[in-house]
Amino acid sequence: MFDNPERGDATTQLALVRQLKFCAGHRLYRHESKCAFFHGHNYRVDIEVVPAAGGGEVDVVGRVIDFSLIKQRMLGWLDANWDHAFLVFEEDENALAAVRMVEPTKYFVMPWNPTAENMARYLLEVVAPNVLGNLGVVARRVAVWETDEACAVAIRGSACEDTPELAAAVCVDSRS
Ligand SMILES: [Zn+2]
Repeated sequence: MFDNPERGDATTQLALVRQLKFCAGHRLYRHESKCAFFHGHNYRVDIEVVPAAGGGEVDVVGRVIDFSLIKQRMLGWLDANWDHAFLVFEEDENALAAVRMVEPTKYFVMPWNPTAENMARYLLEVVAPNVLGNLGVVARRVAVWETDEACAVAIRGSACEDTPELAAAVCVDSRS
């Protein structure tokens, strides 16, 4: 039944998916309807990671990586930066002025409008490479769920070899 049960199939790709949850506020700059108002979501993120070397590489225990390390790094970043924060597009000067006026305040300036799509892209392209970089894994796919029914997905393309600098794109001001 199995050709080579000890070594496995060399074409098999292994991946892990970890769910992460946080709450945040945002608004969509220039949205034509109600998403232009300040509001928030209970977000869920699904992050899929694969071995940096590719394929079915596992450690001596048989893991791509321990689940707890993904949680520690990614949820640690989310807790510090996005949880109970307001996500604001850097060109949305009106919203920026509002969140800066409140005390205490926690907000996060995004280089793009904070849609679920752009949040997924930011986690995939900017956050994951920086926080998972030395663990021997790369994020292949990030889904950001705004509701139980709807999510946006960012998928790593073959051209995503550069790791953008985390600090260059963001500015966090937490006085709480
Ligand atoms: Zn929303």
